[in-house]
Amino acid sequence: MIEMNKMIIPTIPGDGVGPEISSAARSSIEAALAVATDGSVTIEWEEILAGEAAFRATGDWLPKATVDRIRARGVALKGPLTTPVGGGIRSLNVALRQALDLYSSVRPVRYFRGVPSPVKAPEKMDVVIFRENTEDVYRGIEWRRGSPEAGEIIEFLRSKYSIDVPADSGLGLKPMSEFASKRLIRSAVLYALEKKRKSVTLVHKGNIMKFTEGAFRDWGYELVLHEFKNSAVTEADVMSAGGLLPDGKLLINDRIADNMFQQIITRPDEYSVLATPNLNGDYLADACAAQVGGLGIAPGANIGDGVAVFEAVHGTAPKYAGKDVANPCSLMLSGAMMLEHLGQTDAAGVLVRGISSTLSEGIMTQDLTRLGEGMRPAGTRRFTDEVISRLE
Ligand code: NAP
Repeated sequence: MIEMNKMIIPTIPGDGVGPEISSAARSSIEAALAVATDGSVTIEWEEILAGEAAFRATGDWLPKATVDRIRARGVALKGPLTTPVGGGIRSLNVALRQALDLYSSVRPVRYFRGVPSPVKAPEKMDVVIFRENTEDVYRGIEWRRGSPEAGEIIEFLRSKYSIDVPADSGLGLKPMSEFASKRLIRSAVLYALEKKRKSVTLVHKGNIMKFTEGAFRDWGYELVLHEFKNSAVTEADVMSAGGLLPDGKLLINDRIADNMFQQIITRPDEYSVLATPNLNGDYLADACAAQVGGLGIAPGANIGDGVAVFEAVHGTAPKYAGKDVANPCSLMLSGAMMLEHLGQTDAAGVLVRGISSTLSEGIMTQDLTRLGEGMRPAGTRRFTDEVISRLE
């Protein structure tokens, strides 16, 4: 990726508020890199097409050239995309993840001082959610009520297994494989070890869905036993050894999803890295983000082997498009994750500290100020300028 001292990074500005927050993220990423490297490393952005802009220019919502370009460069920064209504594509974001096999959704959630929050101690939240991206309900294997396929499957279940499903049912399939579960959990454990995090929690609904969610938990423990037995211990082992975690070891535990949802609100500081199947992680990541200020401030990345897309986790917020009010923090912080991924750890730190000190002085966009009292909102451009002026 690094050519001499210039990094070439493909970028999709996105639809709706996408172009505004992309411009904000790009200028703050460039400025942070300049501060951290004394200008010795620069970025050339390579704009690529997806979403409405791609459809207008090429008649295709997700051109093959876009997917090929990201694969070739191994990285991209992406704004939010409109999901085409009534097209053949269920979701462009899901299509991109599947095309590039971006199997881990990585969502760090932490608190920034000064941001209004609905909970009493938001600073206790500091988790990173690794969510499986390719299976479970996101495979989108569904049949409409009354369709010939639904009828055939209902009849098959009745005649072959004596399972009665009401004839007026829609059907969905929830596949979860050992391979995909283990590679997601492996990436969570490797991350936790590298970042010296204290634990990885497998979140599942295995008490009810034993052969999908329950298997996810079992495969997780199996993986730890086979691949990480020198660096990690399970909660059961710790308990049977008197409750003390051996020094320097990563703790692996598991929680049933409904219990996890209440514990992440009541005792968030007991959790660090969460590894989840697709649907649990989808809900959990937004529920965690809500505690620290909402989606406007939540970064994310979709990561596969040798390729990673860093993106805003919110959508196109069309009612705010072109109004200079959208919060650019999500994409800026995703940009910081990208810098770290590219080995520019100092620049990532400069950018996160710049955002943090801006927010701590009460300078923030309307989605955050409206949660507090007597706060005046900054527009997207002013907020970005304030961040850039605090980079050091
Ligand atoms: P959304 O675009 O995330 O917007 C929902 C609400 O979240 C907005 O109305 C606004 O809340 C708030 N919001 C989101 N981003 C914000 C920002 N940067 N600054 C301030 N407020 C922000 O979700 P949606 O309305 O369900 O979806 C709109 C389109 O985006 C759809 O086409 C959807 O498919 C797509 N989408 C794309 C992605 C993606 O590309 N990753 C993700 C989700 C949705 P208030 O109204 O309360 O102010």
